[in-house]
Amino acid sequence: MDFSLTGDQVLIRDAVREVCARFPGQYWRDLEARGEYPAQFVTEMTRLGWLSVLIPEEYGGGGQGVIEAGLILEEIHRSGGNANACHAQLYTMGALVRHGSEEQKRRWLPPLAAGELRLQAFGITEPDAGSDSTRIATRAERDGEHYVVTGQKTFISRAEQTDLMLLLARTGPPTAADRAAGLSLFLVFFSGLRVPAGNLIGVEGRGFRQVLDGFNAERCLLASEAVGDGRFFLDRASEYASRREVFGRPIGANQGVAFPLAQALARVEAASLLRFKAATLFDGGQPCGAEANMAKLLASQASAEAGNAAMHAFGGNAFAAEYDIERKFRETKLLEIAPVSNNLVLAFLGQHVLGLPRSY
Ligand SMILES: Cc1cc2nc3c(=O)[nH]c(=O)nc-3n(C[C@H](O)[C@H](O)[C@H](O)COP(=O)(O)OP(=O)(O)OC[C@H]3O[C@@H](n4cnc5c(N)ncnc54)[C@H](O)[C@@H]3O)c2cc1C
Repeated sequence: MDFSLTGDQVLIRDAVREVCARFPGQYWRDLEARGEYPAQFVTEMTRLGWLSVLIPEEYGGGGQGVIEAGLILEEIHRSGGNANACHAQLYTMGALVRHGSEEQKRRWLPPLAAGELRLQAFGITEPDAGSDSTRIATRAERDGEHYVVTGQKTFISRAEQTDLMLLLARTGPPTAADRAAGLSLFLVFFSGLRVPAGNLIGVEGRGFRQVLDGFNAERCLLASEAVGDGRFFLDRASEYASRREVFGRPIGANQGVAFPLAQALARVEAASLLRFKAATLFDGGQPCGAEANMAKLLASQASAEAGNAAMHAFGGNAFAAEYDIERKFRETKLLEIAPVSNNLVLAFLGQHVLGLPRSY
């Protein structure tokens, strides 16, 4: 059992760390204040090939795995940045790579790898279908060589910045045995509602199953982001608690400040190991639903705990924008809720790992 990173993985991590150092907290704060997309950061990450590492080399990508992609996302988050703007480019691609036809892959993957096109949006959620995604009502009806899409999606991140979007829509009814039957996956230009039939990814009616395997990669990658957030909070809070003096000594000398940080450190490290195990299984083509879900659960909880400990260590300064603690705390809480809430992760583990009766 070897827990160390390979030489190549260290090189990737260090190279991404160097890029992130050029986009400090001020960059992210200014963007948030203006409500803008981090176009400069995304362009740079794309130019250097870091957003196409999961695309096979024969289509112009890096040909790496979820472990490496996770290291990239971890570094972005550890630096104080946020990968929300570009992480979907990594995992959304998986459905096309694994289920697309050869023709589709040759057509779309090279321009995506080269950064000429963006595939950064994934449209599943609807106003009446969030956690229960099999209830989606958006329909795609065949009309000659096209599908005509009718419906409503909500919460679709980066919809305004993407060229292409993966869209889950209903092409047939659910069955009593399988609520996910009849759902199909399309690659769409966001501006068009008539989708060429050739843009159906994989098999009609099997779309939900096709995104399910990608969900495990997504869980591993989001766990990596949470690990990065956790490390960000611990780095910053440890540094602050070592130099901020109250009652004549550094606040970090007080166990009431140090222990919550140490406890969070242990949880972040444990979650980090589990995401590596999950990613190793995924990259090896092994089942990893249990590990990927547990990694996402534990990492998101650990980063929230680290964030909470950091908030307390910073005291009033936790709310001063220039320290980035409050912003990052808000951002990391999202990982407990989206793209899947931790309650639903627990429901999955109860049903599929422990064999308990289905609860939803
Ligand atoms: C910032 C952001 C970005 C997003 N980006 C995207 C995107 O790009 N694409 C996309 O498709 N979606 C996106 N979403 C949507 C996201 O996936 C959903 O918000 C999430 O799946 C939860 O669904 P919901 O909000 O409808 O909550 P609901 O399903 O209404 O659930 C509300 C609460 O009830 C709990 N709950 C529900 N049922 C059960 C149960 N049976 N047992 C226990 N607890 C239960 C949930 O855990 C949750 O806490 C995004 C959301 C946010 C906030």
